Amino acid sequence: MSQVRLRFAPSPTGYLHVGGARTALFNWLLARKEKGTFILRIEDTDVARSTQESTDAILEGMTWLGLDWDEGPYYQSERFPVYREFVEKLMAEGKAYKCYCTPEELDRKRELAIAEGRKPKYDGTCRGVEDRPGAPFVVRFRSPEEGETAFDDLIKGRIAFQNEELDDLIIQRTDGTPTYNFTVVIDDATMGITTVIRGDDHINNTPRQIQLYEALGYPVPKFAHVPMILGADKARLSKRHGATSVMAYRDMGYLPEAMVNYLVRLGWSHGDEEIFSLDELTGKFTIEAVGRSAGVFNPDKLLWLNSHYIKTGDPVRLANLLLPFMKERGIDVAGGPDLAAAVRTLQERSHTMLEMADGAVIYYRSDFEYDPKAAAKSFSPAGRELCAELAARLGQVEALDHGVISAVFDGICADRGVKMKDVAQPARFALTGGAPSPGIFEVMEVLGRDETVRRISRALELFGS
Ligand code: GLU
Repeated sequence: MSQVRLRFAPSPTGYLHVGGARTALFNWLLARKEKGTFILRIEDTDVARSTQESTDAILEGMTWLGLDWDEGPYYQSERFPVYREFVEKLMAEGKAYKCYCTPEELDRKRELAIAEGRKPKYDGTCRGVEDRPGAPFVVRFRSPEEGETAFDDLIKGRIAFQNEELDDLIIQRTDGTPTYNFTVVIDDATMGITTVIRGDDHINNTPRQIQLYEALGYPVPKFAHVPMILGADKARLSKRHGATSVMAYRDMGYLPEAMVNYLVRLGWSHGDEEIFSLDELTGKFTIEAVGRSAGVFNPDKLLWLNSHYIKTGDPVRLANLLLPFMKERGIDVAGGPDLAAAVRTLQERSHTMLEMADGAVIYYRSDFEYDPKAAAKSFSPAGRELCAELAARLGQVEALDHGVISAVFDGICADRGVKMKDVAQPARFALTGGAPSPGIFEVMEVLGRDETVRRISRALELFGS
C-alpha cells in the first residue's frame, strides 16, 4: 500500500445523492489506482439533522455501487474528546481564544456593518480579553490578518483568498461542541488524508481549513473540488429533475455498473471512450482529467449505459439481481423455469431490470387470462388445429432445445403445407396470451416441454380445439 489516503465524508442527513456518490467514486478510484487507503467517515456532529437511517442508507448505497472502504466508518460523534484536546492545544498556544461576545452584541455589530456598507465580520473584540470565569464563551481561532491563503486545486487550478476577508472562525460553540470546519481539519489531519476530493460547494471552507492545518503544524493535503451536477435546465440537480438518490436508481432497475460508469463520465473523460468497468477505471482514472465545468445529468445516457450492461451482463448474476423485482410482482421463481434462462431471452430487449422483470413474468404465470378479441384474430380454427398438432408432436420429444423445436415446426410445415408463421402465431398466442415476448422458440425453450404442452392444451380447452 502506498501512503495515499483518501476519504469520503458524508453528513448523514439524507440518502446517498448522485453527487455524493460521484465524489465517493472519485475518491475510491484514486485510492485504488494509487494502491492507497480509502476511508469512510460519517460527519454526524449535527445531532439534530443526523440520523442512523441516513447513515445506513449511505452505507447501503456505497456497498451497492461496489465502493468498499479500507478504514471506518469513523463517526465524528464519537470523537468529541479528540476535538476538545485540539481546542485546548490551540488555546494553550495562543492560537485560539475565548470569545464572550453575546449573540445580541454580534447581531448589533453585524447590522451596523451592513448599514454602513461594510462586509460583516467578527471585529476581534475578545482577542485580548482576560478570562471571565463562569461566563459563557465560544472559542475562536486567531486567524492571520494579513497576506493571502492560496492553494493549487487539482481540478480548478490556483485559488487565493485574502486573509483580511476571513474573520476569526468559531471552532467551539458555547455548549462545548466543535464546529464543522474544525472537525474536518482535525479528522483529515489525524487520519493522514493526503488528498481531499469533495464538492466545490466547500471551496470557501478551504482557506479557513488550510489556516487551521498550519496553526496545528500538520501538512496541508492536496485539494480537488469537483464541480456540481446540473439538471438539463442548468439548475443544480434536484428532485425536480427526477430521482437524485442512488438507491432510487437501483429500485428503478438500474445496474450498479451502469451507475458507476455514468457517474464517472459525468465530469471525467478518457478520449472518447464511453464504457468503463470499475477495473478499467482504476487503471485509467486521474483526478486531473476531471473537467472544471459542471456536468449535466442526462437520464437518456444513463439508460443507454444500463441497456448496454444488461445486454452484456452475466445471466446468472442478472438473475440474482432480478429476484427482488420478481418478488415485487408476486412471483416465486422456485419451481418455475430457470431464471437465468429467462434472463437470456430478455437481455436484448430490456433497458432496465424493471422491464426485464415485466418480461419475465410470462414464464412464471401460467394462469394468465386470454383476450377473446385477440383469440378471434390469432387463434383461428386452422391455427388451433396446428397447435393441437404441435402439442402432440412436442409430447413425443425428450427435451426442448432450439434444434428440436425447429425440427418440430419444420415437420409440421412440410406435412401440412403451411408456413412457419401459420404455426408460430397461434402458438405464441397460446403460450403468452399475445403479450410482447421474445421469439417463440426461445419462449418454448425456457418454458420446457411440459409447460409448453400444458399451456397449449389449456388454450385449446378454453377456445375449443
Ligand atoms: N460532510 C461534508 C458534506 O457532506 C463533506 C465535508 C468534506 O468533504 O470536507 O458535504
